[in-house]
Amino acid sequence: MAVDPELLEILVCPADHGDLEQIDLPEAVRTRLAQRYQEEFKDERAVVESGLRCTVCGRVYPIVSDIPVMLIDEALEGPEVAG
Ligand SMILES: [Zn+2]
Repeated sequence: MAVDPELLEILVCPADHGDLEQIDLPEAVRTRLAQRYQEEFKDERAVVESGLRCTVCGRVYPIVSDIPVMLIDEALEGPEVAG
């Protein structure tokens, strides 16, 4: 499961336009987010394995079924995904 490298290249943090790096999310966070986004995926299974971390502010934007969710309101704070 990977985001299109060309898409990754043009995506920036919506808060500060910082560069993003793809990271693996801890199991507990994956489970919580998959449950959270499942409500919006009626027939499909929401799959959450990784996120995009801003190299400037440290916010992490979840990637849900290969789609990066680039919303500040739904970003994870750094400490939440550490470990
Ligand atoms: Zn940022």
